[in-house]
Amino acid sequence: MPIVIMKFGGTSLATPDLILKAAKKVLCMTRKNEIVVVVSARGQTTNKLFSMSREITLKPKAREMDMLLTAGERISVALLSMALGKLKLEAVSYTGSQVGIITDNKHTDARILEIKGDRIKKALAEHKIPVVCGFQGVSVEKEITTLGRGGSDTTALALGAALNAKKCIIYTDVDGVFTEDPNRFPGAKKISKISYEEMLELSNHGAQVLHPRASSIAARFNIPVEIRNSFNNKTGTLITNMEETQRPRPKAITHSDDLYLITLVQIPKRNQYLSQIVTELTKGGVHLKFFSHGVSDVRKFDLSFITPLDEKDKVKSIINEMIKKFGIDHIRESSDICSLSVIGKGIGSANKILSDIFNILSKLKIHIEVITTSELSVNIFLKKRYLNKAIKTLLDKFRLRKMSQSARKFRRDRRK
Ligand code: ADP
Ligand code: ASP
Ligand code: MG
Repeated sequence: MPIVIMKFGGTSLATPDLILKAAKKVLCMTRKNEIVVVVSARGQTTNKLFSMSREITLKPKAREMDMLLTAGERISVALLSMALGKLKLEAVSYTGSQVGIITDNKHTDARILEIKGDRIKKALAEHKIPVVCGFQGVSVEKEITTLGRGGSDTTALALGAALNAKKCIIYTDVDGVFTEDPNRFPGAKKISKISYEEMLELSNHGAQVLHPRASSIAARFNIPVEIRNSFNNKTGTLITNMEETQRPRPKAITHSDDLYLITLVQIPKRNQYLSQIVTELTKGGVHLKFFSHGVSDVRKFDLSFITPLDEKDKVKSIINEMIKKFGIDHIRESSDICSLSVIGKGIGSANKILSDIFNILSKLKIHIEVITTSELSVNIFLKKRYLNKAIKTLLDKFRLRKMSQSARKFRRDRRK
């Protein structure tokens, strides 16, 4: 029988009743498939564990954070296995290290290097249902690691690849992938089918519904993914290979709320300064979302970076070390930055779409800090106060939001 990975997110397991409902969903799938279950920590467990650490110290060791945060998923695997047992299914719970999810040793943001998976295969051969802790692994040095917030999706897709699964179903708290976050932009429309590359672009630019590394594994190994709501039986969104025959058109919009923009002003031009600065930042674990090199005069240049806001302290301490070493004149910074990204195959080079986006933003008198484009996206960095208005207007312009009754009437009347 084909293998299907079923992954349940934290909200889908928040109460005993929901755990029993998840078990029933597994039962329904066992008739035609071999099932491997992956789970997240229940409800707000991971956030609570995080806060507990902060009550002790503001600078915990990353190793100890991993030891702490992995506790959440252990609770979920044990309870869900018990619930499956209640339905007369033989389930067996495993931690990431028990099933051989081997990672590098970058605590709190580790990458999976290999999945041994022998115990999962053995359990399946014995007609048991393996229930695996998401978000965790064990490093080559035998230390417990975590895969970054939201990393249970990555576990699900990595197991899908290692076990050659037919598909991966991600159960969450919304009906699928929408044209924007439906909790923040009511009226956003559900997308029935989306390509791997468009989903990867959405994930990379902030759509939390699937972790970027999970999207990337799905694309690389061609694993169909279904995003479904664990609270109902509605058809969700299928992420798969798609032949694009249509003209480029915006498919969805996404955003990142909290970004930090820093510019190093007037750095003397010396051989390798640029590469040394970028290397020091990336070696220090800074995630550069964007960087641009500008010329301020013949002997000096400026460098701008955008990073997640929660990396601001790390960035500043690295930059402070650099000021003297590289002779940087001064720095300019803004902690009030966010991004919006319009996603769709081919839109980054579609002139009409680009000019529509810029016209709308200029009519709204929105100042754009930085723009980047790619084949699949147009990314605008702007001040936070403009974000909601910009997204709502773009959703309406590209018909990515259900129209209110009054808007529909207005459009009908205009056509008469
Ligand atoms: P889980 O705990 O199940 O992994 P997450 O909170 O990580 O759930 O992801 C689901 C959430 O992703 C939704 O509740 C929704 O608010 C958010 N989200 C952001 N962008 C989108 C989008 N484009 N489509 C659907 N959900 C989105
Ligand atoms: N429990 C982890 C988190 O909250 C992993 C996950 O939910 O995917 O980030
Ligand atoms: Mg998630």
